[in-house]
Amino acid sequence: RPSFWILSTGTELAQGRSRDTNSAEIARKLADLGFDVIGISILPDDPEIILAYLQWLQSRNDVTALIMTGGLGPTSDDHTIDVLGRWTGSALIEDPTALRRLEAFARLRRRIDIETARRQVRVLADADVIPNNTGLAPGVLGSVARETQPLWYCALPGVPSEMRPMCDMAIDRLREKIHATPVHRVEFHVYEEPESDFQKTVFNDGALAADALKSDPAFRWGVAAMPGSLKAFFEHETDERVITELQQAVQSHYGERFLHRSVEELLPEWLLEKGITVSFAESCTGGLLAKTITDRAGSSAYFAGSAVTYSNQSKQDLLSVPEGILTTFGAVSEECALAMADGARRAFHADAAVSVTGIAGPDGGTPEKPVGTVYSAIVTANERIAFKLFYPMDRERVREYTTRSILFRLYR
Ligand code: ATP
Ligand code: MG
Repeated sequence: RPSFWILSTGTELAQGRSRDTNSAEIARKLADLGFDVIGISILPDDPEIILAYLQWLQSRNDVTALIMTGGLGPTSDDHTIDVLGRWTGSALIEDPTALRRLEAFARLRRRIDIETARRQVRVLADADVIPNNTGLAPGVLGSVARETQPLWYCALPGVPSEMRPMCDMAIDRLREKIHATPVHRVEFHVYEEPESDFQKTVFNDGALAADALKSDPAFRWGVAAMPGSLKAFFEHETDERVITELQQAVQSHYGERFLHRSVEELLPEWLLEKGITVSFAESCTGGLLAKTITDRAGSSAYFAGSAVTYSNQSKQDLLSVPEGILTTFGAVSEECALAMADGARRAFHADAAVSVTGIAGPDGGTPEKPVGTVYSAIVTANERIAFKLFYPMDRERVREYTTRSILFRLYR
């Protein structure tokens, strides 16, 4: 398999003043194609440091290709093209297409100093140009000789909106150069299953007994734990059937706990399709359910609103939870969860309402209701169901796990 290294340059990034989001985006694109990313680094805008690093990368023989971002601009702290010229021994030339774009741009904005700006249309005589259709600085793509195989490199601008389309182009070209075909890959989610149990089920002589696959060097799998769910992938370099069959086996084993995509993606589509509106009554999640559902644009089509009723008084005043329920069963109870959902459904005129009331901690737990005890209810015109969740964890995680778990149950 080809292995990639990603290098972001920028003093702002190296000082932790702005965040390197480019690397993660590029790594994700490569991982989706089944390529290995064996290193991600950040260096300041210092030509000597960058040059030494490039020479070191060249001296190790395990990197197939390097993707760089940043330092292609016109200012004196942009060194990428000069450093690449020194590293590869290539002359620097102006890219005629980029120069024409710059001149046209300068005519529109007369104040631009064309002589300074010209720095950014320089490319390498010995490398391909990656055109920049949204900005001014073109990228480059080339290779340097090495003992074994050449080391491929490309340099892209740091501005994320320019980097993205150019990165897609660069990856396509690199794939041709290194003759890399993407692996077959499936990705899916399993809800309410710890990752260790998942591994035991699929491998380790579990229900699906896929152990033989693990000795196949063309096969790979991985699992990442997320709050309330896990995300897993299977990859095979040549045989698509192997992984689709295994995925089908996983799906029939887990039934409705298996989802092809995350519930955050699927729930809105499902609500839209069914024409259902939802509302929430939140206590211990403090609005996290509402935040999560409104993270997606267009949520007004299915989300009516949420009441964050933290105090007992607000549960009574805003949701009409009867005082008797609070005194008899307490706020953290099935009865209260049902009454809260009834109240939210009425108050927001929604088809469905979901409530959540629990003890996020670290204080407030009792022997009968320890920290992490959460009650939730889902109420529609035909149904009133309540359930208990238990996540004995820290405050942040009780809230995250509860939110994802409730969205999953709502979807189901
Ligand atoms: P340009 O060619 O447009 O001048 P550049 O290649 O010189 O860009 P920089 O000057 O390093 O890139 O950065 C330009 C902008 O892009 C900055 O606002 C910076 O915050 C952002 N940026 C640069 N690198 C990254 C990165 N790795 N992740 C996210 N944003 C970045
Ligand atoms: Mg710059």
